[in-house]
Amino acid sequence: MRICIYTPTEQFKNDILDVVRVFEGSGVEAVPEEEGAALLRHTEETCGNIRRVRVEFLADGQKFESGREGPVRVVPLEDKRIHKRLIKQSVYDVCVSFYGRRPPWGSLTGIRPTRLVYMAMDRGLGIEEAAENLRREFDVSAEKAALTLETVRTQLSLPRQEAGEIDIYCGIPFCVSRCAYCSFLSGEVGRGKQLRPYVDALKREIEGAVKLVREFRLTPRAFYMGGGTPTSLPGELFEEVLEALRPLTDPCRERTVEAGRPDTLDEQKLAAMKKSAVGRISINPQTSHDATLKLIGRRHTAADTVRAYQTARDMGFCDINMDLIAALPGETAEMFRETLLWSRELRPESLTVHTLCIKHSSLLHLWEAKLPDGDMAAQMVSDGRREAAARGMRPYYLYRQKYMAGNLENVGYALPGMESLYNVGMMEETADVLALGAGAISKRVNTRTGKILRAPNVSDIEHYIARTGEMLERKKTLLLSEI
Ligand code: SF4
Repeated sequence: MRICIYTPTEQFKNDILDVVRVFEGSGVEAVPEEEGAALLRHTEETCGNIRRVRVEFLADGQKFESGREGPVRVVPLEDKRIHKRLIKQSVYDVCVSFYGRRPPWGSLTGIRPTRLVYMAMDRGLGIEEAAENLRREFDVSAEKAALTLETVRTQLSLPRQEAGEIDIYCGIPFCVSRCAYCSFLSGEVGRGKQLRPYVDALKREIEGAVKLVREFRLTPRAFYMGGGTPTSLPGELFEEVLEALRPLTDPCRERTVEAGRPDTLDEQKLAAMKKSAVGRISINPQTSHDATLKLIGRRHTAADTVRAYQTARDMGFCDINMDLIAALPGETAEMFRETLLWSRELRPESLTVHTLCIKHSSLLHLWEAKLPDGDMAAQMVSDGRREAAARGMRPYYLYRQKYMAGNLENVGYALPGMESLYNVGMMEETADVLALGAGAISKRVNTRTGKILRAPNVSDIEHYIARTGEMLERKKTLLLSEI
């Protein structure tokens, strides 16, 4: 859709566009007024401390109107928040009339619906009331409000990062081939000569990070190795990195390694993880359908996944996460149900149900692939939730992204006690992180004020290799900063 937007508040133009995208998908383009383009006109007036917003929407020869009013606040930041919400809700109302449907997450366009529940609880509402507020204020469906409520309940039952604790992230930006939907920074292992120089640079950064942890008297709490796919490194290099990390990982109470591609796991790598006391690994089939796996560029089969689970179980791994993706190209709701049934046999302790998202940096975007039908994606995601519940799992983190099929969500489910503390800290932005490797972002969070300071490492692998000293300096500055 091409749409011309008139608004007296240019700073909220992208927010207006985001609401239209909830209904129309990513193909919405803002254009100057032209023949055939839809027209959205926002006007407003302020009387005393009341602001009145009106929105007109002209498309396909039809005209729809909406209007809402809200208070004007004296505190600029608070006023901006309320003002923006008022405009977005008015645009939402007019879109509901035009499109004739109510999206599952209502007018919410943000990444973390849980945050709104926490904010309402901070204002004094009870947890149930705060979740109900999602329905009242943002028109979130009963199903999604219940999911958010359950997720917050699980999170509240988990330990939070204490003062002086820090999580450790280590990124390995390589993979064995590129999945069509991948938007991560990842070089192909087979192609590059960068592996040894990268591992050497990473070891230099790890050494510096160990010194920082000692200097600032920090206690590592949770460790996460991601990427890319860390297990795509050859066995000796993988072992070398894990060994170098020991001063940081030994004190942790939780250690996770993404072993996402089943075909990258072997006994040598599993033994290396055992030696470093890695308790939690992630082996991700995404689907049980080999034709889909081939189509999306994953060079493994469902049988490879079964073998990887068996080997890991035989070697004593008893906390395995499984990622599945709903709405993969060419898949139907029936196929997703088959994947869920198939995955039962593997008995993962946690299950992450993602919804396909077509990011601009992915190959799917270049293919100009269309997102699958939203209703079908919604069916798949609901089936995923039912399946997780039937296995005794609870949702423990939840986030949304732009350009997701059906504007849905990604949810991490886990058996009680098997939740990843690192994931919660990361998704809710409630934990300090010391992050190592190309593109990794270190972070300090003030959970009382919501202030977050970040120190990103450069993303380019060559630059990272040449500038590890500078990356350590950035981390030191971050740790010295007032927050
Ligand atoms: S396995 Fe993960 S990191 Fe590797 S290409 Fe696929 S999505 Fe990207």
